[in-house]
Amino acid sequence: MTDSAPIRAKWFNGRHSRARDVLVALEPGPRGPTLRLHVLDLAHAGSKLFEHQDVEWPPQWSAGRAPARITVGLRDHGSVEIDQPQAWLAALAAAGGRPSLAQRMQTRWPALLGVLAVAVVSLLLFFRYGTPWAAAQLSRHVPLEWELGLSQQALAQIDQRLLKPSRLDAQRQAELRTQFTALVTQLEPALKRYPAYAPRYELQFRRGLGPNAFALPGGTVVMTDELVELATARGYSDDALLGVLAHEIGHVEHRHGTRLVVEQGVLNVGLGLALGDVSSIASLGSTLLTGLAYRRSHESESDCFALALMARAQRPTAPMAELLLGMAHDDKDTPTADPQAAGSALGDWLSTHPATPGRAERLKSGALCPS
Ligand SMILES: [Zn+2]
Repeated sequence: MTDSAPIRAKWFNGRHSRARDVLVALEPGPRGPTLRLHVLDLAHAGSKLFEHQDVEWPPQWSAGRAPARITVGLRDHGSVEIDQPQAWLAALAAAGGRPSLAQRMQTRWPALLGVLAVAVVSLLLFFRYGTPWAAAQLSRHVPLEWELGLSQQALAQIDQRLLKPSRLDAQRQAELRTQFTALVTQLEPALKRYPAYAPRYELQFRRGLGPNAFALPGGTVVMTDELVELATARGYSDDALLGVLAHEIGHVEHRHGTRLVVEQGVLNVGLGLALGDVSSIASLGSTLLTGLAYRRSHESESDCFALALMARAQRPTAPMAELLLGMAHDDKDTPTADPQAAGSALGDWLSTHPATPGRAERLKSGALCPS
């Protein structure tokens, strides 16, 4: 490669106010073009070589928008002003200079739009798949104590707004608790999603919310009097209620609630960082938990878990299928007393268990569960 003709320029060396006439020559160097200054005033004639990394190479410009003058920084040695941008560009190309990727992108709109589209799609994919994945990974490291604290706060909020103390007689409660505890002892390692996770299981009873049951992270399961009464009224055995409890244990073992809270946290932190608004991170906590809705995939995981756990405990699952589907049916027919309050406080979280055809199929035969 031959050197192109030197370019006339003015050098401001940072020490003298007067510019000096120089010739600038660009030469290929090991790391990219180097810059040589030939000082033209007779008293100080001489030349000085600047290595590639000692030159503050000016950004490139798009075709047809050449600036009238470019300034090249020389760090401690001031700067050079060049009035012939096209000559500079030619010399740079001759010396093997390649514009950086970012600079080449800036000069090509279609490429820039392509990059933008890829960035947007990546971001959407991250929110859709990356966040749940990150949450599932992070959830492994969420301590049980954190879950218990969060659940205690959440239950206190739900108690205050929506639930009343149970009126179920103590003996009936004790019977169901004994069966619940027996069911928990059947939790063999093969059934557990997180083998090292040891929640503290506890069954509590409340009134309100209609026939329902829900699980809080850490192992507290709440069952409503209305659910017990519905099972009794329809003549189902306790296997029906136990199946529902097994489903709730499934939510605990899969840490669905924790994963949703963590996911929301990841999103909040991500958005907070993206928008530069860190205050949104502060909204983490129990209010999140009560406003979240399980995903359909969470329901199917818990259904399959319940079928496996009930099988392990040698209990029939047909009664539970009937009861769960009956609950969903009831949900549609009888509107909640105060849907506004229930909706705003709890989202869909507690009114889950939609009876889709797939779900009915799964609950009756287990056909859609992984073997
Ligand atoms: Zn569920």
